[in-house]
Amino acid sequence: MKEINLVTKIRVYSYNELTDADKNLVDLAKSATQRAYSPYSRFNVGAALLLANGEIVTGSNQENVAFPSGTCAERTTCFYAHSSYPGVRFVKLAIAAFHNGAFTPHPVSPCGACRQVLAEYERIGGAKLEIILYGADEIYVLSEVSHLLPLIFHEDL
Ligand SMILES: [Zn+2]
Repeated sequence: MKEINLVTKIRVYSYNELTDADKNLVDLAKSATQRAYSPYSRFNVGAALLLANGEIVTGSNQENVAFPSGTCAERTTCFYAHSSYPGVRFVKLAIAAFHNGAFTPHPVSPCGACRQVLAEYERIGGAKLEIILYGADEIYVLSEVSHLLPLIFHEDL
């Protein structure tokens, strides 16, 4: 028997410590929360994705009375980005959440399904996809998707 220890690296920033470009991406994710359709959870999530061609795509969670039919902000954004700009690499994704009249004080991280989707787009892009998880009190920055999802499923094991 042997043991494997996996390491998740998270850099913690305040908003003012971010670069201007990262502040802009976070601001766009925060704005996207206001376009969520979340009558059931009342938990608005927004995402902003920087692409290698310089475009920034935003999205929000879109719920449905038939719950599984809704989609998280991260997947809304990724699917729109890849269907609008097929073959363009994903560079950086910012995520923010708004609930009970305020942005969450701590970062909100993607659900498991979204992590798997992010992992695939990172893999086909051929370079690490940075993730910025916004919280009003602290911001987490992860340098690649594997820090969100260790032991990622791939078909080429
Ligand atoms: Zn999700």
